[in-house]
Amino acid sequence: MIKIRNLKAFFPKVRPGYIALRRDMIGAASSLQARGLGAVVDAQLPPADTLARRVGQRRQMLGVQAVSCSLISSVLLVYCYAGTISIAVPAAYFLSGIGLIGVFLLLSETHINDRFEDHYLTLFQVGGHVALQLGFLLAAPQIGYAFLCVLFLIFEFGALRMTSSQATVAWTLTGVSLAPIFLLTHMPIGMPVETDMERLAAMLCFVLTIGQCAFLGLYGSSLRKMLYKRSFELKAANKRIEELAELDELTGSFNRRCIMRMLEDEVARARRSNTPCSIALIDLDWFKRINDAYGHPTGDEVLRTFAITLFANIRNIDRFGRYGGEEFLLVLPDTSNDGAARILDRLRSIIADLDWSALSPGLKVTISAGIATLAANENPDAVLARADAALYSAKERGRNRIAIARS
Ligand code: GH3
Ligand code: MG
Ligand code: MG
Repeated sequence: MIKIRNLKAFFPKVRPGYIALRRDMIGAASSLQARGLGAVVDAQLPPADTLARRVGQRRQMLGVQAVSCSLISSVLLVYCYAGTISIAVPAAYFLSGIGLIGVFLLLSETHINDRFEDHYLTLFQVGGHVALQLGFLLAAPQIGYAFLCVLFLIFEFGALRMTSSQATVAWTLTGVSLAPIFLLTHMPIGMPVETDMERLAAMLCFVLTIGQCAFLGLYGSSLRKMLYKRSFELKAANKRIEELAELDELTGSFNRRCIMRMLEDEVARARRSNTPCSIALIDLDWFKRINDAYGHPTGDEVLRTFAITLFANIRNIDRFGRYGGEEFLLVLPDTSNDGAARILDRLRSIIADLDWSALSPGLKVTISAGIATLAANENPDAVLARADAALYSAKERGRNRIAIARS
């Protein structure tokens, strides 16, 4: 006699916490659905929580830019202290930089950004800041290298968000703007290092640029790591959703939709390869009485144990699913009528011989099955109807038996 307790090891698809997991997924699915509906109602903008999260991200990014602008302005102040430039340069640089950041902050807060596919408006930001640097390069060419250094920062920042075509556009426009400055004018573009103060300013400029480049690079790699983690989680969630769409919650066997699709596939394959294909409709005997006598939870456990046992005793190529209630469909590819009868009789006796008393003292479970073998040009519905008629006759003749349909 087979002990029920050991059977779960044969049936990896039924897992503890399965139903809780399914509830989680249903919750997630309905929240996704709600988002989907939201998108239809307001096709222009994403849901409010996404908008709020985006504004937060943009504020953070613009904040970092403001800090960067202040650091560069402080280097300019050192040049001002050294007497290389007038106070007007750092003042104008700080005000115009912060002003430009303020414009993007305004666009962000009013959600104008969210109407664009790239809600960071990266290309516009890169364009604006490059223009600003070139303007100051023309205004204070004696410390031109400082503004050219900032171009590296701008492009590294842009590379975090830009597509390759946007990067090409930004790079081309910058090149086209730099060309006349370098090639058509004889303006000296300087990096003055005559005095100690100027040397200090030059050093600060390089150190700060390198530091900010490193910071942006690290930020980029943390973004990549996060994306990798997210895609991994997404893959796992998709796999779980696929499983849930295919499996019956209670028994872990394929659900009706899935087993019917498999039946159609196997019928088509049998036709193509001209091989026999048999099916069996299996029904638990007197199941209503089991529920009444032992309670619904024990009835559920009987269904689960039956499915586990059956699954453990069929071939890899066989397909087994819950057809409805306490009725299951077994598809036996490449199996003749006689072969199917032998398989089903063996399964019937395995179920009958199982030590069901481990679930509840005195419990006994048997099954009846109707077998039909696919006839030439027969469709899945017709072969199912014949199997159903055979099942009915097995029940009529006293249950715990199999019956073979007439062809
Ligand atoms: P027969 O031998 O003629 O098949 O008799 P039966 O009692 O098995 O058949 P009937 O169709 O009268 O009753 C089937 C019962 O199966 C009724 C229904 O409550 C029960 N059932 C269906 N699905 C489930 C389920 O998921 N869990 C439990 N515990 N019972 C179920
Ligand atoms: Mg029944
Ligand atoms: Mg039934």
